[in-house]
Amino acid sequence: MALREIRTQGDPVLEKVCKPVKTMTPRLQGLVDDMLETMYEANGVGLAAPQVGVLRRIVVIDVGEGPYVLVNPEIIEKDGEQTGQEGCLSVPGVYGIVTRPEHVKAKAFDKDMKPYEIEAEGLFARAICHELDHLDGHMYTELVEDGLHRYEDEGEESEE
Ligand code: ZN
Repeated sequence: MALREIRTQGDPVLEKVCKPVKTMTPRLQGLVDDMLETMYEANGVGLAAPQVGVLRRIVVIDVGEGPYVLVNPEIIEKDGEQTGQEGCLSVPGVYGIVTRPEHVKAKAFDKDMKPYEIEAEGLFARAICHELDHLDGHMYTELVEDGLHRYEDEGEESEE
């Protein structure tokens, strides 16, 4: 495993639409491992492949419930509403207030390309929405309600 460089806002790779994964090759397995390592190293709760420069529909998420790998993910249900802080490893040092569904259900493939469904609420649901947006070239900064704010207290960051 190896750390990958996290691309930051302004890098054109973050504005592109990612391609689906057809087969899980050893190379993509390595990418998944590197994404997890890179996310943990950066104290993030989620990371999407384009954030490390790879235009594939792969995200990793860990909001404290163990790592989840979502390949070719799709949200199939959403309901409720939550408004709260959101940040992004690709937009370091700032956060914004974003409204997301409180509950989402998604389908995806795991790292062995086995299909599964996942139900999430709260931060986990927020992370799924945030990371899936990256796969279509979108950033949470498009959705913030009151501009971007600087973190005043470092060490309590939760970036995605
Ligand atoms: Zn992000």
